[in-house]
Formats: sequence, structure tokens, C-alpha cells
Amino acid sequence: MESESTLLFHPTIAINQRFKSFADSGIIIDIKREDLLHPQMSGNKLRKLKYNLKEAQDHGTKTILTYGGAFSNHIAATAAACNILGLKSIGVIRGEELGVDLEKTLNQNKTLRTAHNYGMKLVFVTREKYKLKDTAASLREYHRQFGKFYNIPEGGTNELAIKGTQEILTDFDLENYDVICVAAGTGGTAAGIINSAGLDQKIIVFSALKGDFLKDEIQKYTTRTDFTLVSEDYFGGYARSSNELINYMNNSFRESGIPLEPIYTGKMMYGLEQMVEVGAFNSKTRILAVHTGGLQGIAGYNKRLIKKGLPYLQYEDDI
Ligand SMILES: *Cc1c(COP(=O)(O)O)cnc(C)c1O
Repeated sequence: MESESTLLFHPTIAINQRFKSFADSGIIIDIKREDLLHPQMSGNKLRKLKYNLKEAQDHGTKTILTYGGAFSNHIAATAAACNILGLKSIGVIRGEELGVDLEKTLNQNKTLRTAHNYGMKLVFVTREKYKLKDTAASLREYHRQFGKFYNIPEGGTNELAIKGTQEILTDFDLENYDVICVAAGTGGTAAGIINSAGLDQKIIVFSALKGDFLKDEIQKYTTRTDFTLVSEDYFGGYARSSNELINYMNNSFRESGIPLEPIYTGKMMYGLEQMVEVGAFNSKTRILAVHTGGLQGIAGYNKRLIKKGLPYLQYEDDI
């Protein structure tokens, strides 16, 4: 038991890799390859699961229940982690239509197929019901239905998750970079980065969603207020993309060899490069951008792009 959890709970320290250097200004961008932490569990989702799964195990809870959409990196990571640790997992998935013909859904959706193959029980619910998932009534209903379980919120963010994301930055990162960049959905990863970064480091959070509501979410988990939040104003909102983004990502993969995904890290790097181009940073600024993983979602994303006849990400086979 102990040795099994050691496998999961001691991720190797990710490497930092040069993404780009700008010859005229001397600015460099390195990427922290958290996507390489574990072959089955995408970077920041493993960080967020670490202390939650430990907590469940310490209390002898054998089942984990959590929530996500049909392409959720968190669902994929939870299913894999529970499989490795010998825990049962239940995934409450948004979209009851996906459960009508499970075999068809699993055939068409790599994320859900992988989760299913790891032994996760998939429970498909309507969007209305999904919206109520954090209410006491909803929790009670799932407890009646499934018995005892450890509940992890959508996206995996809670206090214990922040404890995990605070372990992303190393002493080396605190000493060698002026700016730290991270992409955000719920903001749990960003909060951990903010808590652990040096006071002299500038932190830029690239939201995957429009608007600035995320500021309050992040502020729930940190007392620091000196971070910059960049709203997703380039591409029209969460999971929206454009040919420009996809072409940018294909080019940057050719140049750097580092695969990005289109919802978080691709947009972050695009936005960051735009900032460099308009002179947002002094010369010789050393920037570290955190690669939060999520590459498992590319197959599903590409499927939709190809269906629409749009340019798609051409490095899927190389990662
Ligand atoms: C989930 C996810 C994020 C967002 O993390 P939060 O902690 O929810 O802000 C960023 N990048 C990738 C690749 C993710 O899968």
C-alpha cells in the first residue's frame, strides 16, 4: 500500500526547457514541463489530487467521486490515479445524452474511454443536475446512491489541492526567473503558484475564460494580491479557438518541440508572446511558463476541428 502510493505521491521534479529566446531584447521564455510528471496523469491534476487522495486513504475511504465534462483532464487523471492506488472511482459527467448509448460514446470519446478502462464508473447527468452538484442535496443523493465516498469538486480545486500546487515551483525556479506564467480554469493551480513564488517575482495568470471573476476565486486561497490576471479575450472564451491559434501552436511545436494544448497552455503562450512583442517586459527578463499538461484532450479537440474542415494540431502522434 505504502509503496504504491509512493509511486503516485512523489512525482519527479519536472524539467524546465527553453521555449524561445528573443535575440534583440535578450528575453527568454522557459517552459516547466509539468506535462511530463506522469504518463497517465496530466501535470497540475496530479498535483491537485496528491493530498486529496492521501486524505481519502488516511481515512480508509475506498471510493472517490468527482465531476467533469466529456473531455475533462481532471476526470482522466482521477481515473488513472485511483486505478494505480486501488481505489474505486465514480465520475459524474455533464451531458445525459452521452449515457444513452455508452458503447458509442466510449468509441468516440478518448477521455471517457480511458477513464472507463481504468475502472471509473461513469454517471451521466443533465446539465441542470450538473449545475447543482455542489449543493448539500445533490451530495446527499449521491451518498444514498453510492454509499461512502470522498468528494472532489470539479477541476479538483480545494484547500488540499492548493497544498499540492504549491509544490510546483522549485528553489531553482525562485532564483532563476523574474516572471512566472500559469494558465487558469478554477484558479487552484495559480493560487498554489502565487503562494509559493518569490515576493520579487511577477506572476501572470492567463485565464481560460472571459471576464475577471477568477480574481475572487484565486483570492480564496491566497493572501497575495500582486498578481496580474489576463482574461481570455483573444479567441471568444473557454475552449474556443481560431485558425490563428492552431497555426501558432503547430509552428511553436516545430520550433521548440514542446506540444501545447489549445484550451490553456496554447492560449497562454500565444498571449505571452504578444506581450513580449508589444514591449511588456524589460530586456533580459527571464520568464518561466508552467506547462500544466492536458495533452490527453488533444485527440478529442482535433476530432471536432477536422469535422469542421479546420486546421488541426499536427503533433498528436509525436507526444
Ligand atoms: C485544469 C487545467 C488547468 C487549469 O487549472 P486550474 O487549477 O483549474 O486553474 C490548466 N491547464 C491545464 C492543461 C489543465 O488541464
